[in-house]
Formats: sequence, C-alpha cells, structure tokens
Amino acid sequence: MAALKGRHALVTGGGRGIGRAIAAALANAGASVTIAGRKQQPLADAVGQGHAASYFIADVTDARALGDGIERAAAERGPFDILIANAGGAESAPFAKTTPEHFQRMFDLNLMSVVHGAHAVLGEMSKRGYGRIVAIASTAGLNGYAYVSAYCAAKHAVVGLVRALAIETAASGVTVNAVCPGYTDTDLMRASIDGIAKKTGRTREQTLAEFTKGSPVGRLIRPEEVAAAVLYLCSPDAAAVTGTTLTIAGGEI
Ligand code: NDP
Repeated sequence: MAALKGRHALVTGGGRGIGRAIAAALANAGASVTIAGRKQQPLADAVGQGHAASYFIADVTDARALGDGIERAAAERGPFDILIANAGGAESAPFAKTTPEHFQRMFDLNLMSVVHGAHAVLGEMSKRGYGRIVAIASTAGLNGYAYVSAYCAAKHAVVGLVRALAIETAASGVTVNAVCPGYTDTDLMRASIDGIAKKTGRTREQTLAEFTKGSPVGRLIRPEEVAAAVLYLCSPDAAAVTGTTLTIAGGEI
C-alpha cells in the first residue's frame, strides 16, 4: 500500500480519464500526487475527491508554462520523483485531408509534451539518483491505424523517445518507459464514438462494436487497468525495467 510513500508524482492530464485513474492509483500507493491540465474544474474535483493532493494549470504544449508549474510545485512540495506524461489527444482525418498544421498539433500535444516534462524533471532526478518517467503512448505507438496518421506518427515517436532516453538514463537510477493502452473507456473514446456515429448514421452501440471487434477481449480497456501498469513501473520492484513498452490492450497487439 505504501510502496510510494515519500515520493512526489506529477500526472499531466490528471483531472479525468486515464490520468485521473493513474493519480488515484499512485495516491493509494502512498505517493504525494500533483496533477496538471488546462481546465481548473476537473483538477479541483480530482483533488476534492482525494485522487491527488494538489494541482497546477498548464498547457503541456507550452514548455515554459509546464516548466514554471513544475518548478512552483517542486518548491512547495519537494522535487518530483515520478513523472507520468499522460496528457494527449487524437484528431482524426484521412491522410489526404491532413495539413502540416494538423501534424504539428499532434506532435506538440503527444510528443513535445513528453519532451517538455522530461526536460523539466530529469536534471533533479539524475542528481538525486532516482526517478520514474512513464509516457502514456498508445497501441497507435506500435501499430498503424487508418485516419489517425499524425497521431500514430506522434505516438510512435514517443515510443522511440522513451527507448533512447532510457539508455541515456539507465545508469542514473532513472527509468523511462511507455504504457500503450488500447481503446480505453474515457471522454476521448466517447467523443470518437459520438463523432463517428454522427458522421456515419450508425448508433453508438454499433460504433462501439466496431471499436471492440478488433480486440480479443471484446471490450474497452478500463482506465484502472492502465493505471495498474503504471503503478508497477513506478514501484521499487521495477528498478530494472527501462526502455520498455507495456501494452494494455486485451491481446490486440
Ligand atoms: P481524455 O480526453 O479523457 O483526457 C485527456 C487529459 O489530458 C485531460 O485531463 C486533459 O485536461 C489533458 N490535456 C489534453 N490536452 C492538454 C494540454 N494541451 N495541456 C494540458 N493538458 C491537456 O483522454 P484519455 O484519458 O483517454 O487519454 C490520456 C492519454 O492516453 C492520452 O495521451 C491518449 O493519447 C492516451 N490514450 C488514450 C486511449 C483511449 O482510448 N482513451 C488509448 C490509447 C492511448 P484539460 O482538458 O483540462 O487540459
């Protein structure tokens, strides 16, 4: 229960979805958890419900805003031992309709957010000889999917970043890993289902069945199942696990 007692963890996008489940799991394991995002209400609600101890507002695509938030939180509650770079999102479009701006947005949100977070915490982690960095990538970081080429490219880049950074930090006590969820039951997924149902005239149930039919378990992944994988990677027992991807996708990959 108290495996992470005394550890300060940051979860970006910790106000809802997968991030909130991760924050709750880390807090249950004894960590002091700070969450970050753009909207105040979900962050304040998550803190109010005991899923985290504090929050700050920052857009993860803005290196300076994220860095300032991290610096303030570290000054108040101690340097970060754990970074969960979870905030991200997908925009879908056939490749022919994508623009350089679409690709840039997906790279800023899904890749550069991890880079900015790691830049802000890594120096202190290396100095203290301990750290856990976990990026929430996706099965889209390992497989290709139609109509999300920019998201897939960005998530593949996250997996590449994790593998490279893990080698650089391996001797310093800092581990760097990625968790790759399959379709997970969150707002992001619900918005995709609603959008596709609207475009195609199918019902929500039919659309959901399209998503789950490619998964051997035949259902969406639960955010808590992703959080359990993150918790393992943050545990003392995972000190020798670095540069890896842990796929939580019901056998899809
Ligand atoms: P949600 O849309 O439910 O939540 C996204 C979270 O990220 C919110 O807390 C949001 O907070 C935050 N966020 C989004 N953009 C920014 C930004 N620019 N700056 C700061 N925070 C931001 O998504 P999920 O929980 O489903 O996804 C979490 C991660 O898991 C993402 O990286 C996603 O790509 C990945 N993933 C999700 C899957 C799924 O099927 N759901 C499958 C595989 C991977 P706010 O709006 O307040 O900024």
